[in-house]
Amino acid sequence: MLAHRPSLIAFVALMLWPAAALAGPIDNWCEQLGKRLRSVSASACRIQNFVAARDITPKGNPLVFLDVATASRRERASSARRILVVGGIHGDELTSTSTVFRWLNWIQHPDAAIHHWRVIPLANPDGLMARPPTRVNSSGVDLNRNFQTPDWTRDAHAYWVKRTRRDPRRYPGKLAGSETETLWLQTQVEEFRPDLIISVHAPYNLLDYDGPVPMPLRFGRLTLNQLGVYPGSMGNFFGLIKQIPLVTIELPNATTMPSQKDQQEMWRDMLEWIKNNKE
Ligand SMILES: [Zn+2]
Repeated sequence: MLAHRPSLIAFVALMLWPAAALAGPIDNWCEQLGKRLRSVSASACRIQNFVAARDITPKGNPLVFLDVATASRRERASSARRILVVGGIHGDELTSTSTVFRWLNWIQHPDAAIHHWRVIPLANPDGLMARPPTRVNSSGVDLNRNFQTPDWTRDAHAYWVKRTRRDPRRYPGKLAGSETETLWLQTQVEEFRPDLIISVHAPYNLLDYDGPVPMPLRFGRLTLNQLGVYPGSMGNFFGLIKQIPLVTIELPNATTMPSQKDQQEMWRDMLEWIKNNKE
């Protein structure tokens, strides 16, 4: 019997190991977010059912999402939508990720819970966790210029050179879709098949919109002010090319959250637009 013990121990260890390995990245991710974001605590992050994707960033950070679909099929109204929320694609826009965390609480309320939500609080973890946080990812690429739009090969580098004067914060990458984070977001949309996408940024204090249904005019204090189309942007790729309505929320400040009242008004108007938006 003694001879079997080591193999038994190894067997038990093997059975326990996958659970420990899966819990680890989320725990660590929550720990880092709690340190970086004033309004997010590691403990509040850990109680959410976040899932770490198989893909990891070049710095070894997990790419994390959460599905919230609490209403039963019977409870779901015909206005129920599949909504993808993306925060933190620019790592130095801290309020973007904090806002998405705030929404995770509000999504549970009945008027929002009729929808099926997929929430990605932080699409660029390497950027947010850098010291100091950076807009670009750890390879120096602006993920919001790296999507595989048809105009990318012709326009992305020319735009970067001429219009941004080689601004390192807006480098589109060597190739369209060269970045793990960009390809992962594209895969998320292919798998989840959202009816609409909400992308949260800062600090331009406005709403932008790309896509086929009536555009939102106002969410709280933010009013529609279309910024134009950039080669490789998310709005260009999902909104214009894939024809999935995509709202870009530009919060007024990258490091200070809007007042509670402003956040609630924005949320209320957004839900109203989601309810009314039908192709
Ligand atoms: Zn941004």
